[in-house]
Order: sequence, then C-alpha cells, then structure tokens
Amino acid sequence: MAFVHLHIRQWPELVAAHGLEAAESALREAEARLTAVLRTGDHLFRSGLGDLCLILPRLLGDGHATLAAQRFLRELEPPFPLDGTAVHLLPTLGVALATDPAESPESLQRRAATAVVHALRDGQPVGIAAQFGADRMVHELRDALARNALELEYQPIVTLPERRVVGYEALARWCRTSGGRVAPSVFIPMAEDAGLAAELTRWSLQVALREFAPLHRRRPDLYCAVNLSARAFDDPSVPEQVLAALAVWQLPPEALMSEVTETAILRNVGQNAQALAELASHGVRLAIDDFGQGYSSLGYLRHLPAGVLKVDQSFVAAVDDPRSRVLLEAITRMGQRLGMRTVAEGVEDDAMLGAALEAGCDFGQGWLFGRPAPMALWLED
Ligand code: C2E
Ligand code: MG
Ligand code: MG
Repeated sequence: MAFVHLHIRQWPELVAAHGLEAAESALREAEARLTAVLRTGDHLFRSGLGDLCLILPRLLGDGHATLAAQRFLRELEPPFPLDGTAVHLLPTLGVALATDPAESPESLQRRAATAVVHALRDGQPVGIAAQFGADRMVHELRDALARNALELEYQPIVTLPERRVVGYEALARWCRTSGGRVAPSVFIPMAEDAGLAAELTRWSLQVALREFAPLHRRRPDLYCAVNLSARAFDDPSVPEQVLAALAVWQLPPEALMSEVTETAILRNVGQNAQALAELASHGVRLAIDDFGQGYSSLGYLRHLPAGVLKVDQSFVAAVDDPRSRVLLEAITRMGQRLGMRTVAEGVEDDAMLGAALEAGCDFGQGWLFGRPAPMALWLED
C-alpha cells in the first residue's frame, strides 16, 4: 500500500488573489481529475487546506507508486479555470510505502507529509519517504558494527568441470537483536548510505582474514574473497589498510581476492582503478563482481588489473532463455580473451551448471557446490 500526500504550492496565493470560493473550485476540479484515474479500492480525501491525500492499497510492484505519482502530476498539468482566467496548479507529492505491518496509519501519513517537505527543499515534484524504521535500523547496524555483532559466512568457489575448491567468498550476515535476519542486499546499501562503508569494509577484511588464516595454513593454495564496498575507496588509505591486515594475519597477498562490483569501479574510475592497481602490484588478486548487471561500460576493462570476472547470476539463472546463454558465453569469451578467468555465479542446479560449462566458464559458485556457511564448518572438512 502507498500513501500519497499532494500539496499545492501556491495555495495561499490562490486564496489571497481569487478568494477561498474560487480556489476551492479549482481544488474540486483537481479531485475530479484524479478520481477519474484512480483504481477500484483507491481512496482520495482532503487534508487540511489545499492538500489532498490518496491511499493506494493495491500496488502492483515496486515502481507502481512512483508511476502513479507521475500519472497524478500529468493529470494536473492542464490549466484550471479560475475566475474567468486559467491557472496552472503547482503540485508537490510525497509518497510513503507501507511495508511494515507494525506501522500505524498516523506514522504512514506523517512520512508522506515529511516526504513533501523534503521534495520542496530539494526542488523535486515527487518525494519518496524513507523506509519505516530506517533510522532505527541504521542505528542498530552502526551499533552492531561497533560491537562486532555481524558475522561472515563463506561460500566455496570451485573449478569447472572438476569442482575442486580454489577459494571461499566471505559474505556478511546480520541478525538483529530482535532475532530477525536482514539480507545483505538490504543492509549493505543501507550501511553505505549511512556513511558506514569504510567501517564495514574494514570489519569484513579483518574478520575474513582472521577466520581464514587457520584454513590457509593447512591449504596455502586457497584464497579468501572479500567484497569491498562501493564507497570504501573514497578513503585513499584503503590499499594500505588491506596490506596491513594481511600482514597482521601473516597471509601472503595472493591469499586475498578483493571483489569489487563494476558499479563501484565506475563511481570514480580514476581513483578506484589506481587503488586497485596498487593492490594488484603487491600481489592481491582482484575480481570484478556481478559483471553485466549494471551499465557495463567495458572501457575500464582496458586498464584494470583484474584476474577474475564474476558473471552476474542473472545470466546463469536464465537457463531457458537462449539470449541469456549467448550473453553468458560472450562475456566468458571476452573475459578470457582479456586474460581473465571467469566465475559463473549462482549455480543452483545441474541445468545452470550445464549452461556454465557450455559457456566455458572456468569456475563456478553456487548452492550446487556449497551454501555459505561459517568457517568452522569448512575447517572440519
Ligand atoms: P555477491 O558478492 O555477488 O555474493 C553472491 C551472492 O549470491 C550472495 O548473496 C550469495 O549468498 C548468493 N548465492 C550464492 N549461491 C547462490 C545460488 O546458487 N543461488 C542464488 N540465488 N544465490 C546464490 P548474499 O549473501 O545475500 O549477498 C548479497 C550481496 O551483498 C553480495 O553479492 C555482495 O555484493 C554484498 N555483500 C555481502 N557481504 C558483504 C560484505 O562483507 N561487504 C560488502 N561490501 N558487501 C557484501
Ligand atoms: Mg561478491
Ligand atoms: Mg556477485
């Protein structure tokens, strides 16, 4: 469900210039135009002076509320007859999505109104409210990082077709004090937005290297892959920190594979490529993560000293789509021609393995070969 707050920016001026009666008639016309495009179950009502509220209980998907907001704006574009003249209304919309059953209707309405205020401040026609409870969650995450309450699980990366383990990828796990698990796809971007990227990266590196060191002593041929945050490289001392962490745990640089998404690289190609080149010059391995998922710009591949290209799991998952298979193969070939080895990500079953093999991927990672698990479990093997 979404709650939309529609505010007419020049309402006081309209009332002052034309009188309340005339301004009201324009608002009634606005109501009529919006009502005409509402779906069954949607609800429109007045809120205070010159403001309208809409409740959209049956959203069709993530982007639906934004699309609806755009639609409302379009309906209000044509001029409104007022006092024998025509005026253009200047609407600003605030949208709040109800995602948490614990949220009260008042809180939802308040978030939509706050989104209007933020949109006005930013000069935007539509403001999307921050997620309910986001502040509290960020606070808890910051606290969890400080208390070292996050954990890492490790997932094997294997050679194809032999399935010999060559390394493990460290994946962050967060279990809130309330007991709920939060997916990395939710809390990693949240941490980055809250300015915690550097801290998170430091934490992942330290914990991963500490936990991996005993395994490496037994199997010096294995590496540990650590995801480096998109914004971590804003701090130019990251390469130094990485080398220092390796030294602390007495690991050679080759024991670490740093995984960086192309989105992260493209954020600041110059600076990031330089930092990664510095790491590579010391022998740290480098992988480009989730390749093909973003706006692949390819140009940066010319300069980047990456040894491994991890093909995004969407290409592996769509086994029944011939075009995805062609892309998987093309990306694999391209990577290999550029001197990189490729990893097929997200291999869940034999059909996906078949696609990865057919495409000629060098390595695979996925549930078929092993799910992410605590290091203690891999040490038993
Ligand atoms: P990623 O680096 O691409 O990691 C691979 C993701 O695929 C992991 O999701 C893993 O659990 C999932 N996966 C593995 N095998 C399969 C499979 O067979 N099928 C499917 N459907 N999924 C599979 P996860 O653990 O949810 O992590 C999501 C993303 O969060 C990671 O994607 C990575 O970008 C980020 N992330 C995780 N840990 C860290 C961290 O410590 N630091 C940073 N900066 N990012 C992290
Ligand atoms: Mg990764
Ligand atoms: Mg990936």
